[in-house]
Amino acid sequence: MQTDAMPSWRNVSEERRTFVTHLECGLSGEEVEADRLHGLSSIGRPFLVRYDLDSMAQSLSKETLAERPPDMWRYREFLPVRSIDNVLSLGECMTPLIPAPGVDGDLWIKDEGRLPTGSFKARGLCLAVSMAKELGVTRMAMPTNGNAGAAMAAYCRAAGIEAFVFCPDDTPETNIREIALQGARVYCVNGLINDCGKIVGDGKKAMGWFDASTLKEPYRIEGKKTMGLELAEQCGWHLPDAIFYPTGGGTGLIGMWKAFDELQAMGWIGSKRPKMIAVQASGCAPLVKAFDDGVEHADLWPDAHTMASGIRVPAAVGDFLILRAVRQSGGFAIAIDDEDIFAARDDMSRNGGMLLCPEGAATYAAWKAAVADGRISAQDRSILFNCASGLKYPMPRAGTTLDRHQPIDYGAMA
Ligand SMILES: *Cc1c(COP(=O)(O)O)cnc(C)c1O
Repeated sequence: MQTDAMPSWRNVSEERRTFVTHLECGLSGEEVEADRLHGLSSIGRPFLVRYDLDSMAQSLSKETLAERPPDMWRYREFLPVRSIDNVLSLGECMTPLIPAPGVDGDLWIKDEGRLPTGSFKARGLCLAVSMAKELGVTRMAMPTNGNAGAAMAAYCRAAGIEAFVFCPDDTPETNIREIALQGARVYCVNGLINDCGKIVGDGKKAMGWFDASTLKEPYRIEGKKTMGLELAEQCGWHLPDAIFYPTGGGTGLIGMWKAFDELQAMGWIGSKRPKMIAVQASGCAPLVKAFDDGVEHADLWPDAHTMASGIRVPAAVGDFLILRAVRQSGGFAIAIDDEDIFAARDDMSRNGGMLLCPEGAATYAAWKAAVADGRISAQDRSILFNCASGLKYPMPRAGTTLDRHQPIDYGAMA
């Protein structure tokens, strides 16, 4: 690969080169060519995108990076899109790192609810759909618990790609409506996300779909990787002590772990890693069980249930990558009851003025549990991922009726 300077990002007509060298199966190491459409590897496991990190380190400095606009595409050298004509953007802002309000401890919230479509799925799907456009895809399909489908619908609309979305029939109503409003076909299935995934898999040949299921294409990880790059930059290139990540398919956890390795290979950070803590719901905790059992792959979780729909994922094709990252980091996996998830949401909104999504609230509950049992100290610098806007989820009814034609009892309001 040449090491001459990259063409200007603003020069829209010029072909942009990337630092991608090839794709590699995360389990077997099988290598395939980049710039072609790929699904899973020949053994049915996820591909990871590999880069020429030495050349990248010569072409890009932290100082150059610091001068760029505060959005996801500031990390473009770390990303695989070749032509700027294929770069989709709905305004993928850097998300704020906020000191957890009303909490005693070195606890921070990375608020991903500010992204387009109101969740961090925008990072992954922005990349996946940009790459799909670059590789000539015209129809995409995915199973989703809601937020991924909404993000895919939005970016497919921007790319002129047809989108077909399959979700469990108890997916939050907001998700189903936003998916439809953003131009996708949405089907509500009487089953769970893996049942929806089977419908996509069985139909993709006949329907001409590219399968955008979690980790079944290689680029959502690259989009989610920007969470790790962004976090490292926001922390002054000194990684925190612990990251609490609400884990479904695990794209974000795997992506951040990959980001840290790439940053180290470039000499931008050292070997210190945060403890990666995979947070699941007690009603669907396949990774917690696999972690506790000391095994590399997780069994399908039977009768999965939790109100935190984003982490209701009974089987994850990247299970071994999640478990490896958690173990190598000295972290752990932890299951939280729904009751404690909603108690944590109430606590943070009533006492801190910050409305978390249920999955984000699960990380707060996990932090409290881990501090209580001594696995984490409140003085450790810990990051919680609030992965979606709390406004996307059902909330308890509220509001007291007032009749303006009757005398108002102000005393009763005190
Ligand atoms: C998808 C999702 C998750 C899980 O993210 P993964 O990276 O797929 O594990 C957590 N919370 C919300 C709100 C989500 O939409």
